[in-house]
Amino acid sequence: MSKKRKSHYHADMLSVEEAREKILSVFNKLEEISVNLEDSLGYVISKDVVSKINVPPWNNSAMDGYAVLLKDVKKASNDNIVYLNVIEEIAAGNMPKKSISLGQASRIMTGAPVPDGANAVVPFEDTDENQSKSKEKIGIKIDVVDFENIRKCGEDISEGDKVITKGTEITPAVVGVLASIGYDQIEVYRKPKVGILSTGNELIEPGEKLEKGKIYNSNSSTIASLTEQYGGETISQTHSEDTIEDLEKKLYNFHDVDLIVTSAGVSKGDYDVVKDVLNKNGDMNFWSVNMRPAKPLAFGQIVIKDKKIPLIGLPGNPVSAMIAFEKFGRYAIDKMSGKKIKHRPIIKATLTEDIHNYDGRRLYARVKVSKEDSKIIATPLKNQSSGVLTSMFLSNGLAICPSGTDILKKDQKIDVEMFGWNEDISEILN
Ligand code: AMP
Ligand code: MG
Repeated sequence: MSKKRKSHYHADMLSVEEAREKILSVFNKLEEISVNLEDSLGYVISKDVVSKINVPPWNNSAMDGYAVLLKDVKKASNDNIVYLNVIEEIAAGNMPKKSISLGQASRIMTGAPVPDGANAVVPFEDTDENQSKSKEKIGIKIDVVDFENIRKCGEDISEGDKVITKGTEITPAVVGVLASIGYDQIEVYRKPKVGILSTGNELIEPGEKLEKGKIYNSNSSTIASLTEQYGGETISQTHSEDTIEDLEKKLYNFHDVDLIVTSAGVSKGDYDVVKDVLNKNGDMNFWSVNMRPAKPLAFGQIVIKDKKIPLIGLPGNPVSAMIAFEKFGRYAIDKMSGKKIKHRPIIKATLTEDIHNYDGRRLYARVKVSKEDSKIIATPLKNQSSGVLTSMFLSNGLAICPSGTDILKKDQKIDVEMFGWNEDISEILN
């Protein structure tokens, strides 16, 4: 960590939670739309889903075997084989034509509807099917209990059940359940459209030739990728110059979005014009948030073609932009999508080196969490500069140093917020 600065408390700053609350207060769930089942993954259900059918729709066999009457096979065993007359064969997809009476059995396949009368299925391996030459007779070698190897009508879902409640995010298993009750159109909340614009005279786009004094615009791609990952749809612009005119011109293309996310131009430098544009065209809050990285944050609503659109102005440093978007943008997207508020999981880990917190803000230090001899350890990345973007994929969590705490000490157990964009943390936790 770099040079020491004096530690002091910032009473005029908003906490991360206060800033988030203020931001979230201007967002609501978006309107409901209907999507095809095959496109529904990732959306959030907007109306309770009630099943119109039983699943399974009828009693069906859980095994390949013989549908029998309990009474008939009560005393059956290897030494006392009970012979039954086979009256039909039932394949999956067909309905039985005959009901079972005493002394009878039907050959039945897995998934096929169980014939009336039958109250258990004896698997092939518990019969003499392999040894017997006759197809008309089957020898049963075991006793079974009521409904053995029968999947009962409605045992998964009953007609009239509220199967999925509104607010549920559609995962592959939810898609499967919706399909199992025959739904092909699903009522969901629309996904938010997010307009993304980086500002800065120094920016050129990836693919262009690097010119003197310029840097590649990484924020637009990072924020767009995060937006997609969080379930938003992106409408990206390249970048704008640090002038009010160019910024206004580029923002004008975002008249149709639900959220605008800009990067840079929110510090105290000469060319920091995001604030000016917000002030001129809407209402603007400029906040110092009690966090590090990402202290400066602009937030407001900007009027574009008579529509008021919320705007989050992220700081320009790539790490700050990413962490601020994770802390504020992600929640806004979730709220608009109808999702429940989801904080990142916080785990306890033993710190391998001291982390200094020089100015008393809440520090989110990038760490690599790993497992060493069944102990969960957190190793801080050497370079915690907010310009070092590689640290974001080399780390997998943010160690939290509370506001006002000057140091987290080596060997101390600390809280680490695991972020979702790099790896499955279950590997570490198991
Ligand atoms: P600013 O907020 O304009 O003072 O920018 C802070 C730092 O972030 C400066 O070093 C910028 O060059 C850098 N920066 C700003 N925008 C981007 C961007 N889109 N991609 C990568 N770096 C950026
Ligand atoms: Mg700048």
